[in-house]
Formats: sequence, C-alpha cells, structure tokens
Amino acid sequence: MNPSKPSTRPEPVLGVLDLQGGVLEHLDHLERLGIRGLPVKSPEDLSGLKGLILPGGESTCMSRLLRIFGVDEAIRREYRKGMKIWGTCAGTILLAARVRGETSHLGLIDMEVERNSFGSQLDSFTATAVVPSVSPDPLPLTFIRSPKILEVGEGVNILLRMNDFIAAVETPGTLATVFHPELTGSTAFHRYFAVKCGLCPAPDVPALDPGWSRTSWTRHVRVR
Ligand code: GLN
Repeated sequence: MNPSKPSTRPEPVLGVLDLQGGVLEHLDHLERLGIRGLPVKSPEDLSGLKGLILPGGESTCMSRLLRIFGVDEAIRREYRKGMKIWGTCAGTILLAARVRGETSHLGLIDMEVERNSFGSQLDSFTATAVVPSVSPDPLPLTFIRSPKILEVGEGVNILLRMNDFIAAVETPGTLATVFHPELTGSTAFHRYFAVKCGLCPAPDVPALDPGWSRTSWTRHVRVR
C-alpha cells in the first residue's frame, strides 16, 4: 500500500445517517454481521454507499438537519443511482410520501404514515411476529413512540401487518420498519437489508444473540 495515496474505502460499506437519533445501535448490529458501517453526516459521506439506514429518533428534527446540511438532496441523488435505503421508525416517517396532517420529507415510498400513532412515549411496547420474507423464526420487535403505516400504494410490498396497521414494507429500493430491530438481539433485518444491498453478511452469526442486552452497545456509568 502506498501511504502517500489518499485512502479509499477498502470494502463496500453501509451508511447510517448520523444527524440525530439511534445510530450506534445500528452500527453495532452491522458489526456483528461483519459489515463496516459508516456514520453519515455530510453529502460527501454518501458517495459509493450500497445502502443507507435512516435511524429512529425525531423525524421533525432529523428532517430539518437533513435540509440544513444538504443531505436530503444528496440522498435523493444517490437513491436514483441505486443506493438502497432502510428507514426505522422516524426513518420510516422520512421515507413516506404522505404524513397525516403534516408535510412529508424525502417522500420515497408511496405510503401514508401517522406519527406517534400509539400515543406517548409511555405507550411504547415490544411484540413478537413472524416476518416470512425476512426469517422463518419469530422476531422480537420494539416499538418506541412509533408511527403506523396506514396505507400503501401500488408496488409497495407489505412485509408485516399487525392488527389495524402495517408495520413493515419494502419496494425494490427501500425497506421501512416502524419498529426498531437494532434495539433487539436479532440481526435478521440487518442481514436482510445487507443482502438487499448486494452485500454478503457473515454466515455464522446467530440470528438471535442470547447474550445481547439493551446496554451491550453503551458504556456503564456508575451513578453516585
Ligand atoms: N415519534 C418519533 C417521530 O415522530 C419517532 C420515534 C422513533 O423513531 N422511535 O419522529
């Protein structure tokens, strides 16, 4: 290797939008699958990415930051060139063409969502469901002040329907989940997205890590 040469990315990577929200948890899951994850903060960070994860967080805040840093236009441009996009929770709101009672943001999936559709933060919950396209095993799902997908247009494939709402959808270029797979011990959705992006995740990773704890990616701080 020539040390004076500017460094280029050694292998395909997936980006995680890093303007606000739960970024580290996604990077942690990608690492478990042997995939390099890149925090994306600027339009330049997007170049050459096979896929981008829009994390959970606060969609209004994230959409403002997207505009301020010019990342929204860059995402649309890379999407048109073939970059796949997965939105989790707030990320799903960013991807929706219609947001009930509000203006939409990136608008890349023909669907209508309703924000905070289950109520307040205290109405957050976990559930388990089989998502046949993603895994034959039941998957743990974590909903944190989630939106509901109310309806989808033609060409949008429903991956999971629950009670009165749609929880996961995909199109050839996108994946959207109103829940947070990164806040569970399951890497099934990350594997599914990586394969959708044309990557080869490590085959020998247990689908459900029994040792995973919700603090596995964070630092323990002793409170005095
Ligand atoms: N309630 C948030 C919003 O409307 C989404 C919550 C989440 O991403 N966990 O943006």
